[in-house]
Amino acid sequence: MKKGKIVVISGPSGCGKGTVIARLLEMDASFKLSVSMTTRAPRPGEANGREYYFVSKEEFEKRIDIGDLLEYTNYNGNYYGTPKKEMYAMQAEGITVLLDIEVEGADNVRKAAPENLMTIFLAPPSLDELRKRLTGRATETADVIEKRLMRANEELKEQHKYDHIVVNDDLEETIQTVYHLIKE
Ligand code: 5GP
Repeated sequence: MKKGKIVVISGPSGCGKGTVIARLLEMDASFKLSVSMTTRAPRPGEANGREYYFVSKEEFEKRIDIGDLLEYTNYNGNYYGTPKKEMYAMQAEGITVLLDIEVEGADNVRKAAPENLMTIFLAPPSLDELRKRLTGRATETADVIEKRLMRANEELKEQHKYDHIVVNDDLEETIQTVYHLIKE
């Protein structure tokens, strides 16, 4: 069977990445999300095993030690990582695996060099717009929002490393653009 694509989608917190990915998963039954492991607390509405595997710091560090993770990072004080076995198993079944990961994780996936890798950076129209979206979302405290904006600034400097950059000006257009890039 033909191996599926591994599609890394990065972009600063608040750029609409979560929405875009959720819609892509609805649009095409051959797309599946690589469910990451994290030590951050679940947000309201998030379910263990669907958005993330929510684990303790001890559990996460055990996973690092036994080599279960393809890549991992520390993002604003929490660990986030990609379970390796699941991702490769889905790919072997011909599934298009979507990875919602930040720029350092994307670097490490590039280094691991899986077959059929495609990387997409979703950029906000501006940092001002990003601040508005993060504030409007109201799921994070002011302090966390500031940290995420600082990180966003850093992440934007890395966008040239990606195969494709899509500016999320118009959500529907962005979804179509990303969908067609993946289906190319
Ligand atoms: P959030 O806390 O908003 O769900 O995610 C914060 C950031 O962590 C996002 O940029 C998201 O893409 C990234 N992220 C989620 N899972 C992983 C992962 O497994 N590895 C890496 N490197 N980043 C991740």
